[in-house]
Amino acid sequence: MWQVVGQTRVVALLQRGLEKESLAHAYLLVGPPHVGKMTLALNLAQALNCQATEPPCGECASCQKIALANHADVQIIGLAQNENSAEAKLRTEISIDQIRQMQHSASLPPFEGKYKIFIIEGAEFLSTEAANCLLKTLEEPIGKVIFILLTTNDRLLPATVVSRCQRLELTPLAAAEAEAVLNSHWDIEPQKAKLLARLSHGCLGWALLAAFDDGLLSQRAEKIDRLLEIINTDYEERFTYVTQLAAQFTRNRGLVQEILDLWLDWWRDLLLVKVGCGDIITNVDRLATLVEMAEGYSLAQIKAFINSIQAAGEQLRQNANPRLVLEVLMLDMPGKEGRSEKNLAARLSVKNG
Ligand SMILES: [Zn+2]
Repeated sequence: MWQVVGQTRVVALLQRGLEKESLAHAYLLVGPPHVGKMTLALNLAQALNCQATEPPCGECASCQKIALANHADVQIIGLAQNENSAEAKLRTEISIDQIRQMQHSASLPPFEGKYKIFIIEGAEFLSTEAANCLLKTLEEPIGKVIFILLTTNDRLLPATVVSRCQRLELTPLAAAEAEAVLNSHWDIEPQKAKLLARLSHGCLGWALLAAFDDGLLSQRAEKIDRLLEIINTDYEERFTYVTQLAAQFTRNRGLVQEILDLWLDWWRDLLLVKVGCGDIITNVDRLATLVEMAEGYSLAQIKAFINSIQAAGEQLRQNANPRLVLEVLMLDMPGKEGRSEKNLAARLSVKNG
């Protein structure tokens, strides 16, 4: 049984390919983080090497080895390989050496299974040399070898590589569907399932991580609390916060992007509450605060700040000076100065306490 949830069209296509033995020699799985790309790639590897009559069974020795990343013929290549060397930790791209090693391994026959499968995780991180080197392999298919490239953004890959793969797009589940799956498959209690389905935006992998690791939800709560503090503080404190964020950005870009995404969710929720669509918000556990806060802003203010957050995210992706981008964002954020009601901060802290 295929373990990936919701991707019916893609799974049906692969299933047909398996039955007719007409699979492509290279696939490109495209979709947002945690949508299920790796689960699907491993499932396909299982299906190809399964020893049961209805692959992938998930139970035979081969399926189990693949699930445990312990199968000699299924290799994962990416930024974080099973290496502990200092070099591997500092890696920012997939190197040509990694691809050459993979090519050498691909030239040998399967060791214990029927097919050799190479999964390239984060294919957008292939260095130019690595991508060119990979291209040669993709142009000359090898029997019993299948490459599965995973990426969140195929526009960051050379068009020549993309054109050599069969592109399959994985889409997030609808909130209600994700909620039902979390509740029925994983027995997560209804309130939490609803919150996780919304926070994950239908990317089940994140919902499951958060379901079994409370750290993620408490980190989110801290970030929202910090956001509320920042909204209600003066410019001096906002700029101190920017200094911290800009320093973080140098070390970990993803972290700052996560904070911006969280802000975007929050302000989108304010917009939804403002126009009377509170039932489709993301932060379902903070509805009371959102309702209270929405009273303090005009629709135009909320819309303008949503645009500012989106613009800041785009500028950061284009390598603008992070400190400058974030300072402008802080100036744009409607706060105490921009509101008629002066005591919102006090009222919010009473409400949240
Ligand atoms: Zn099996």
